Amino acid sequence: MEFIDLAAQRARLKPQLEAAVAAVMAHGRYVLGPEVAELERRLAERLGVAHCIGCASGTDALQIALRGLGIGPADEVIVPAFSFIASAACVRLVGARPVYVDIEPRTCLLAPGGLEAAITPRTRAILPVSLFGQCADMEAIAAVAERHGLAVVEDAAQSFGATRHGRPSGALTRLATTSFFPSKPLGAYGDGGALFTDDDDLAAALRSIARHGEMDACRHGRLGMNSRLDTLQAAVLLVKLAVFDDELARRRAVAERYDRLLAPLAVTRPALAPGNTSVHAQYSIQLAGRDAVRARLVEAGIPTAVHYPAPLYRQPAVADPTCRLAACEAVSARILCLPMHPYLKEEQQERVAEALATALEAEGGA
Ligand SMILES: *Cc1c(COP(=O)(O)O)cnc(C)c1O
Repeated sequence: MEFIDLAAQRARLKPQLEAAVAAVMAHGRYVLGPEVAELERRLAERLGVAHCIGCASGTDALQIALRGLGIGPADEVIVPAFSFIASAACVRLVGARPVYVDIEPRTCLLAPGGLEAAITPRTRAILPVSLFGQCADMEAIAAVAERHGLAVVEDAAQSFGATRHGRPSGALTRLATTSFFPSKPLGAYGDGGALFTDDDDLAAALRSIARHGEMDACRHGRLGMNSRLDTLQAAVLLVKLAVFDDELARRRAVAERYDRLLAPLAVTRPALAPGNTSVHAQYSIQLAGRDAVRARLVEAGIPTAVHYPAPLYRQPAVADPTCRLAACEAVSARILCLPMHPYLKEEQQERVAEALATALEAEGGA
C-alpha cells in the first residue's frame, strides 16, 4: 500500500501524459511555452479570477506574493503555527517576521480569535493556510483584516479545488497561492506553483517579480526572481486537470469510507468546518499515544505520515522561543495522517482500519 499512489494515477493517464510530454519536446519551447499560458487561462477560469501566474513552486508563490504586496524588513505577517515550513519561511525570506497564532484543534485551521492580540503597528498581512484541503474561517479573518487595514493571502497549496460557501479556494482573497508539488491534490511531475488575483496592477507586479523584475523587454525595474512554471509541468497538469473533478469525487468517497470505518475507534476523525467542501489533501486523525501506535502500523505495513510533528515556532529556521500555543502543541503531538489518494481501494482502507484497531488495543486502548 502506498501513502499517496501516484503510479495508479499514471496508469490511468499514461497515453495522454506521454503524448503531452512528447508534444512539448517536439515544439521545444521549454520555458513559457504555450501550455503554460493555456494552463494559467484554465485555472483562472476555473476559479473565476482574472489572473493566474504560474511559478516554480508553492514556496516561491508565497514569496512572490509577499514581495508583490511590498512586505519586507520591519514588517510582521501573522501565520498559523501549525503548517508546513514554507508558511513561515516565506516571511523570513523577504526579511519580515512571522508572528504565530493558534489553530482550531478539530480542523487544524487558523483560529481567528487569536488574531487581534497578535496585531501590532508593524503587522502588514495575515496568511491563513487552507490545511489538509479546506479553508479557514475566511469571513472572520477578512473582518479583522479590514478593521486593521491588513492584506490577506490564502495559502491554498493543499486546497486547490475546495470551496467555501460555494466559492473556490484561491478566489476568496485579493491574492492566493497554490503548489503543484507531486503529492498535492493537483500535482505535477516536479515542482510548480501559481498565484491567483483579480487585481490587474498586482498581477503585473507579480509577473514582473517572477521574471527577473522585467518591466518591458529587457528593462529590469526591480530586483526579481527567476521563478517560472516549466512547460513540461504545465503540459502534465493540463492532462491531470481533465480528470481532476473525478479525482475529487473519489477523494470524498475515500474520506467518507474512513469516517465510517474509524467511527468505533478511540481516535478523533477530521472535522469539516461549516460551509466548506474539502479536497482531502490528507486524512488526519488525532490520537493519544500516537508514536507507539504509528510504530505498530509500520510493522503491519501501513504507511503513515506526521504532518506536522512540531509547531513552526519550534523549527530552528523560523523559531520564536517566547511562543507557546496550546492547540498547536496538542495537535502536533496527536496528529497522524493515513494513506489518502483518489485510487485507494475499499479493502485497503479496511486493512488500515483493522491494523489501527489492533494497534490501539495493543497500546491499552490509548
Ligand atoms: C506544499 C506546501 C507549500 C509549499 O509548496 P512547494 O510547492 O512544495 O514549495 C506551502 N504551504 C503549504 C501549506 C504546503 O502544504
